[in-house]
Amino acid sequence: MAVVRLPVAGMDVDLRLPDGADDILLLEAGPPDLGLALSLIARVVHRVDGAPLDPTALPIGDVDVLLLRLRQRVIGEVVSAEEVCAGPGCRARVDITFSIDAYLEHHRPGDAPPILPAEEGWYRLSDDAVEFRLPRAADQLAIARAEWPEQALLLRCLRPAEIADPARRKVEAAMEAMAPSLCAELEGICPECGARVEASFDPIQYTLRELRDQAAFVYEEVCAIAHHYHWSEAEILSLPAARRARYAELAAPRAAPERTTA
Ligand SMILES: [Zn+2]
Repeated sequence: MAVVRLPVAGMDVDLRLPDGADDILLLEAGPPDLGLALSLIARVVHRVDGAPLDPTALPIGDVDVLLLRLRQRVIGEVVSAEEVCAGPGCRARVDITFSIDAYLEHHRPGDAPPILPAEEGWYRLSDDAVEFRLPRAADQLAIARAEWPEQALLLRCLRPAEIADPARRKVEAAMEAMAPSLCAELEGICPECGARVEASFDPIQYTLRELRDQAAFVYEEVCAIAHHYHWSEAEILSLPAARRARYAELAAPRAAPERTTA
């Protein structure tokens, strides 16, 4: 268990490492999207007093932070996004590498323009009658199929919903300062031709894909352990992943899958 600071909500939470049941969720629950991220967070994150946490109420940036913190603990600190160089006739593979701590520090909430707290979770621009709140995961889920998602999101988080452009820009600037997006364009330089290479980084998709790859051995490990020790599937799935892998190795030294860790 580790205590993680949620920078936007300004709250500490407990984060535990995934077990086999979490690995099964990662493998069987559909695409690596926000819905899967929230299902995983509901299982592995609790309030520090032990009470459950409603992940749909989290600001969207804090969902990204939780997944990156989980990735840091399960796989490691260094992220390496691989891109193919688009330079003329090049096609070289370019690694864009960064550390999660540095990434989170860079995307930390900063100073907001002058605002006043309004009622629970709402803020008011100090020189305007406009009120706003920060988008939550629930808002993001609700607008997922909207024709104009950005507009639909603003409509949910603004009072009144229709405001003049200058006030809307001020609200958007305040939101970005208070809850910066963790989806970003990464930049690297091609070692072959020197061209600038860009890659989009979406923490939810990226980390869920990696965690899913990491979980992929769960079936073989359950099979090896159940065959050798005759424990039930539920007992094996409740083991921390590292211990499950070790037992599987001991149970079937020659047949055990080779795990790689970064
Ligand atoms: Zn190149």
